[in-house]
Amino acid sequence: MSGVHEECGVVGIYAPQGEDIVRFLYYGLLSLQHRGQEACGIAVTDTGRDELDVNCIKDLGLVSEVFSKETLAALNGNLGIGHVRYSTTGESVRENTQPLVLNYCKGKLSLAHNGNIVNTDELREELIRTGAIFHTTMDSELIAFHIAKNRVHSKSVEEAVYKTAKKLKGAYGLVIMSPKKLIAVRDPFGIRPLCLGRRGKTYIVASESCALNSMGAEFIRDIEPGEIVTITEEGITSNYKLKQETKAHCVFEYIYFARLDSVIDGIKVYDARIKAGELLYKRHPVDADIVTGVPESGIAAAKGFAKASGIPFDLAFHKNSYIGRTFIKPSQSERSIGVQMKLSVLEEVVKDKRVVLVDDSIVRGTTMENLVKMLKKAGAKEVHIRISSPPFMYPCYYGVDVPSNKELIATRKSAEKINETIGGDTLEYLSVEDLQETAKGLMICTACFTGEYKAGQKSNDNEG
Ligand code: SF4
Repeated sequence: MSGVHEECGVVGIYAPQGEDIVRFLYYGLLSLQHRGQEACGIAVTDTGRDELDVNCIKDLGLVSEVFSKETLAALNGNLGIGHVRYSTTGESVRENTQPLVLNYCKGKLSLAHNGNIVNTDELREELIRTGAIFHTTMDSELIAFHIAKNRVHSKSVEEAVYKTAKKLKGAYGLVIMSPKKLIAVRDPFGIRPLCLGRRGKTYIVASESCALNSMGAEFIRDIEPGEIVTITEEGITSNYKLKQETKAHCVFEYIYFARLDSVIDGIKVYDARIKAGELLYKRHPVDADIVTGVPESGIAAAKGFAKASGIPFDLAFHKNSYIGRTFIKPSQSERSIGVQMKLSVLEEVVKDKRVVLVDDSIVRGTTMENLVKMLKKAGAKEVHIRISSPPFMYPCYYGVDVPSNKELIATRKSAEKINETIGGDTLEYLSVEDLQETAKGLMICTACFTGEYKAGQKSNDNEG
């Protein structure tokens, strides 16, 4: 129920033996839909044809809205990439949808990108200096143009990708399709996730392992931070590696973004959320009758809290899964209506009970204020709020859409004051140290809680 949003999800598939992979791209995108609901697209080619061409269908809307049986039937090929988008850079218009398809000296180059590049000004100026007339603000387009430019003096497309990636600062998981190759790149900090899988002789790259499961594929491994993987007829090669940096895997993947059944960098998302709930109880115990979670991302942490405390877990909310996300409505008053449309309280579960309410984060505080009101109106005697992350205080520069600083309630108010505002009986957060424990020693980015950015920072931040 967080007020922060992931930017994108990517998938790439290559079946060298010639199998049509379009339906698998579609399944992959459906399973990555939680990472972006504004737009989506598929670009595909058939490496068996003499005349190589790329067919691309992309538009604003959910995967199930953009791709019907008929549109999918119009696409076929054995090499393709796909994208779901939640826009933070560039307007939400059809022109900004991905994959991008670019004509270049070797045919067509297609690219899909998850994350955010922080040095776009430098990249654009370099293109202008070398003679390109270039006005785009889209980081994905800048990356594609740099690859095309570098390809002229490179012996392979992966070398051109390497030369380009060396110049990128920020967070990225890239899938790139050249006429006969699928290339995947993960930023040197490992901020955004990217993994590799296989289904028979078909190779798959995806933002999350849940996409592999949806295709009946097996997980091979995570793509290493800074690694460039090339998939050709001959199989997988990994000949280029970007300069190693201190790792900074986005901890919000485990708290909220990633799907519960995904495994990222060796950590099961489900386990991390259960652990967060257990630690919340250990640090901030409370006497109560039931533990409940805010659907969906608060549920696993609530189960962890219940497991550690012995207090029974119960479902206090029914979620209407067919309502759009609350952030579609911009004003505060409309947002509160959105919460009530999406969730309703099961009165018989909470009436006369002392309730522990677990959620992944508090961003503006509006959602939590409404949930507490709803629980109390339904007869809850007490509502103790437990948050499975620290106070959210700083913007993210790496592709995660966070409201401006002045909208983040924790930048203006202490936990005590926030609790007064939202009407809870108690409010407690997980600490940054405990968050590290949920990630089992993995080096994580926690900049939105600490303000310490490891992978560079945009000068024109969104401070309000
Ligand atoms: Fe993730 Fe926060 Fe770091 Fe952004 S600042 S990459 S949301 S942990």
